[in-house]
Amino acid sequence: MAKTFDVAVIGAGPGGYTAAIRAAQLGLNTVCIDDWKNARGKGSLGGTCLNVGCIPSKALLESSENYERALHKFSDHGITVKEVAIDVAKMMARKDKIVDTFTGGIGLLFRKNKVTSMHGRARFTGKSGGYQIEVRDGENAETIEAKHVIIASGSSPRQLPLATVDNDRIVDNVGALSLPDIPKRLGVIGAGVIGLEMGSVWKRLGSEVTVLEALPAFLQAADDQVAKEAFRVFTKVVGLDIRLGVKIGSVRNSKKSVTVEFTDAVGEQKMEFDRLIVAVGRVPNSANLGAEAVGLKIDSRGFVDVDEHCCSSLPDVYAIGDVVRGPMLAHKSSEEGVAVAEIIAGQTGHVNLDSVPWVIYTSPEIAWVGKTEQELKAKGVEYRVGQFPFIVNGRARAIGETAGFVKMLADARTDRILGVHMIGPYASELISEAVVAMEFGASSEDIARIVHAHPTLAEALHEAALAVDKRTINL
Ligand code: FAD
Ligand code: NAD
Repeated sequence: MAKTFDVAVIGAGPGGYTAAIRAAQLGLNTVCIDDWKNARGKGSLGGTCLNVGCIPSKALLESSENYERALHKFSDHGITVKEVAIDVAKMMARKDKIVDTFTGGIGLLFRKNKVTSMHGRARFTGKSGGYQIEVRDGENAETIEAKHVIIASGSSPRQLPLATVDNDRIVDNVGALSLPDIPKRLGVIGAGVIGLEMGSVWKRLGSEVTVLEALPAFLQAADDQVAKEAFRVFTKVVGLDIRLGVKIGSVRNSKKSVTVEFTDAVGEQKMEFDRLIVAVGRVPNSANLGAEAVGLKIDSRGFVDVDEHCCSSLPDVYAIGDVVRGPMLAHKSSEEGVAVAEIIAGQTGHVNLDSVPWVIYTSPEIAWVGKTEQELKAKGVEYRVGQFPFIVNGRARAIGETAGFVKMLADARTDRILGVHMIGPYASELISEAVVAMEFGASSEDIARIVHAHPTLAEALHEAALAVDKRTINL
């Protein structure tokens, strides 16, 4: 007899593990199946985010930022540090320990919430009564049955046929998070989120970093003004060599170095790198789900086809996170996981994709929520803009991070906030206030009338709200 469950969750990334915990909390007998193995060949829960994504990248960003502060910024405070050095192996060991703590923690959360955890690759094999799902771990296979299925199989790096990843000289996010040494010359293909975050880590540690981006515009998803300021700071202050409008001609891996031939506005060029990061987007993991066995609809780009409630083309089958439409972000995945578990339990789950915040953890950080100014213009929406620079914010001065600004966009007629965009210190934390405001349908005047503690970075958001009505106090 096959083991039967109310809910089977495929994937234990932030989408899947959160969905499984919430389903179990709601009294549903839940199994979560995941096939991730870490570098030591051991099953490791948490998916991309915890193993080779959000968590390890932020650990390395913090280490590299501390190194850079000690090298270049402490002296401004009158602090002399002699013989600053970076031990890459120790930095990586710290990162690995953080990853192990969090991935191990999910096992504990599963036990606490009575989620059954299975290691192996899951695929649909049929439907009679419930859905039959084969769980295969090497030679061992077991079939389970579930009334409801939540697909949370995530995504994988998009491959560039010209540049075969060996995770030694040519690396994707997995290799970029585990380089054994500091490359003198680091190439990055793709000036997206991973390219900029990982490029920043290795630049701070001493690499000469060249970023090759296909599009002629920088950070297209961001507000144009933020993208422009980011490009200025990253190229002029941080020192990233960012080339736009690049067409890669060839990539040659000699095992000692990588030679990239490309053309851009300057013409044909050739550069040699010690390592090359390829970060050209991610593709959904939908090929190995056994979709054909049950007639699950997958769209032309490989995403599981879902409606606004994450319902797939099949009854009682849902899909969430990176494997479906919408931004590929951990918090979007986990919120969809909660929503779907609640829908299965008969409640009303919902995720508002219009107020999912974006954060890029560069220095300065970039964060936004809602519509960009160019989107509002394209839609013909009438709006007012308020902007406030960090250079006149007391806390930013005290921290010594004064680049950037906060920009608020509000409806010209109703004053409702339509978007908030920022580049500056701790933008990742500041954006939450804007998300709450937008979810509560706040106007710029609401933020302008709320007391903000002094001196805080949040005062820049307050002043940006005042600026919408042209009544900033400190500028
Ligand atoms: P995943 O995390 O990809 O998890 C899917 C899991 O399902 C994996 O364990 C996979 O092995 C497993 N699986 C797949 N198919 C099967 C199957 N058939 N059977 C069993 N198991 C299966 N997002 C942020 O919000 N903030 C960040 O700072 C951030 N930083 C990132 C940094 C990097 C370098 C990368 C690569 C990504 C980053 N992301 C970040 C994106 C974030 O990691 C993803 O959006 C998030 O992990 C998606 O969650 P998920 O649960 O949908 O899928
Ligand atoms: P991305 O979509 O952010 O950027 C990929 C970039 O590569 C784009 O600018 C694209 O134009 C460029 N590109 C594509 N093909 C190219 C080519 N042939 N030559 C040169 N450039 C090319 O993708 P990513 O950086 O790989 O990250 C994947 C996803 O992971 C992100 O979109 C995001 O959803 C998630 N992520 C989030 C965070 C965060 O939230 N802080 C961090 C890392 C990753």
